[in-house]
Parts: sequence; C-alpha cells; structure tokens
Amino acid sequence: METNIICYLPLKNGVMFTEEAWGLVEQAKTIYPNTSKMTAIVVHSGIPVIELEQLPFDEVYHVHVPIEQWKVSDYHFQAFRRICAIIQHQKEIFLFSSHPLYHDVAVRASTRLGMPMITNALKVIEMENQPSSLLVKREIYQGKANEFVSFAPTKQQYLTFERSILYGRPQYGTPSIVQEIDIEKYEPSPIQFISESEIDWKELKLTEAKVVIGIGRGVQDKNEFDSIVKLAEIVNAPIGGSKVADELGLIPREKRIGASGTSIEADIYIAIGISGSSQHLEGIKAVKHVIAINNDPSAAIFQRCDIGIVGNYQQVVPRLVDALQAERQSETYVEHLHIG
Ligand SMILES: Cc1cc2nc3c(=O)[nH]c(=O)nc-3n(C[C@H](O)[C@H](O)[C@H](O)COP(=O)(O)OP(=O)(O)OC[C@H]3O[C@@H](n4cnc5c(N)ncnc54)[C@H](O)[C@@H]3O)c2cc1C
Repeated sequence: METNIICYLPLKNGVMFTEEAWGLVEQAKTIYPNTSKMTAIVVHSGIPVIELEQLPFDEVYHVHVPIEQWKVSDYHFQAFRRICAIIQHQKEIFLFSSHPLYHDVAVRASTRLGMPMITNALKVIEMENQPSSLLVKREIYQGKANEFVSFAPTKQQYLTFERSILYGRPQYGTPSIVQEIDIEKYEPSPIQFISESEIDWKELKLTEAKVVIGIGRGVQDKNEFDSIVKLAEIVNAPIGGSKVADELGLIPREKRIGASGTSIEADIYIAIGISGSSQHLEGIKAVKHVIAINNDPSAAIFQRCDIGIVGNYQQVVPRLVDALQAERQSETYVEHLHIG
C-alpha cells in the first residue's frame, strides 16, 4: 500500500522557508524512503510560484492568504481541510512542526477526524519486526525521560516534530503537480486577525525568555530595585534570582533559579549580587552567555561568566542602563536616517 507523507511546511512570517521547514523535509524523507509519495502543503502570504515549483516533493498544494491573516490558525485549518479533500490516499501520514500555529492545525484535524496524533517527536523509525509501523521517540517528564510509542494501523496518522530538532538545508526537486487552492472561494474564515502585542518582561516566563536577570543577596534592598527594573525593561528580561533572594522576599518562590528552582536556557543571563554557588549554577547550565556583576573579585560566578564586572551593582547597573539607552537612541537615530 502506498503511503503518502504529507508535510505541512512551516514558514517564517508567511513568506520564507527556514531551516525548520527543511528540517521537516529531512525527517519526512527518512520515513518509508522507498515506498512513499511526498506531498507538501504550503499556506503562505506570497512565496513566488517558482520557489514552490522547486520544492523536493512529488506534489505541492498551496494556499495564498492575506499577510494580516496568516497568523490565524483558522485559515490554516480551512486550507488544510480543502487540500485534504483533493489528496485522498489509502494511507496518509501528516507531519507538522510543533510550533503552536501548526500544532493547533494538527490537533484540530486529528480530533475532527478521530485520527491518532503523536506530538513532539524527536525521532521516527520503522519498527524492526513490523516495518509498516512507526516507532516514535519523544520526551516526557520535562525532558527527564524518553518514551517510545507507535500508531495502531489507521488510514491517517498525525505527527508533530519537536522544533528544536528541525533544522536542515534547502533541497530542490521537480514536483509533478503544483496547484494553488483558493479557499476564500469556498468559505471565508469567520475569524479575523486584529493586532498582536509583545509579551513584556513582567509576564515572560524564566524558561522562555532570551535574556534573564538574576538577583542575589547582594541586592538586599528592594528600594534599590529601580535601576534593575529599568534594565529589565530595556532588555525585556524577567527577574529571577537565587534561593537567598527568594528567602529574603526579593523574588517570588517560582522565580528561584537553581537546583531547587527553575533551570533556564536563556541566551544571556545577567547575575547581579549572586555569588555563584554550585546549586545556583545548576540552574544556568544551559545558558549561553553570563554577565556577572559582583563586588567581590573572588566570587565563583566569575568562573562561569563571559563578561564579569567587579563593582557595587548600585553603581554598575545605572551605568549599564545609561549605556544601553544611549545605544538604543543611536539605533533609532540610524533608523531615522535610513528611513529619511
Ligand atoms: C539543598 C540546597 C538547595 C539549594 N538550591 C538552591 C537553588 O536552587 N538556587 C540557589 O540560588 N541556591 C540554592 N541553594 C543555596 C546556595 O547554596 C547558596 O546559598 C545561594 O545560591 C547563595 O545565594 P546568593 O548568591 O544570592 O548569596 P551569597 O552567596 O550570599 O552571595 C551574595 C553575593 O553578592 C555579592 N554582593 C554583595 N553586595 C554586593 C553589591 N552591593 N554589589 C554587587 N555584589 C554584591 C557578594 O560578593 C556575594 O558574592 C541551595 C542550597 C541547598 C543546601
């Protein structure tokens, strides 16, 4: 029985294939490589047809939605349904990125049709003794264990891939079908996109932020917080801290970073008045870059940092804020120059 592997290709801003899309293509190619047919679904806001004609698939179905509506998952779901009505096969495996937009489409489609779905796959292989079945590896218990699961035989199967494993290089091919589907012609979406707003530092989770500020016993006085709050606003960073900061009431318990708190994966961690105990360092193992401000040059945090500033944070942080504000202003000035 021929299996159709159908990739719902993820895009950036509705107009660009990124390494996430190519990563999905690579994953798709490893599933039943010799017996399957590959189909792409592309819901976009202006990818040139010539690019779609070079995708490494047997068939490509695409829907052009207005850019302001591209983020509405309802549009995607309608496009998906319309395309699925055209591509009917005996067996279909739908692959998605775990990006919330595509996850939403996958959940709605599988629920509506009562078909099974496995989310956040890390690896998919054919089962040794049953080559027609897939074995899917996924993380459980917040990454502390893996589980291996498989689909019971069904006509359709839905699989989302963990985004962190989706990276690949552009690939090219010559699809035999490249067909545009006009969904507005059938039924306009009942949901319209109005606006979006960035989540600010107060709402951002420590585990999701690119920049995190950590405060410790060195920041003893809540009245000295002003410059730290300004810094948080400028770099859009939530404020967490050490166990001691938590015990002193400087931060809420859920903002504790470390062995007995949260582990963070930020690109930049700014540690202010934190000594760098092993328990604290445990929580910042996955941080890419650490900037440490501490008035004791022998503090252990300086062994773990990329930039270390020895000094009283009450003097250092305001200067850092001034420098960043000046930098921002010059960026705006440059932007104005470009626009002008
Ligand atoms: C079972 C267990 C679990 C633990 N779990 C955690 C955990 O999850 N997270 C955690 O953080 N800790 C944890 N700890 C506690 C840990 O051992 C340390 O006690 C704690 O990390 C120290 O916090 P701190 O760096 O804020 O304070 P300190 O170690 O007291 O360091 C304060 C630092 O501030 C500097 N400083 C003082 N004044 C200034 C100033 N004006 N300007 C600049 N710098 C200044 C000092 O030089 C010093 O280095 C745990 C301990 C145990 C036993």
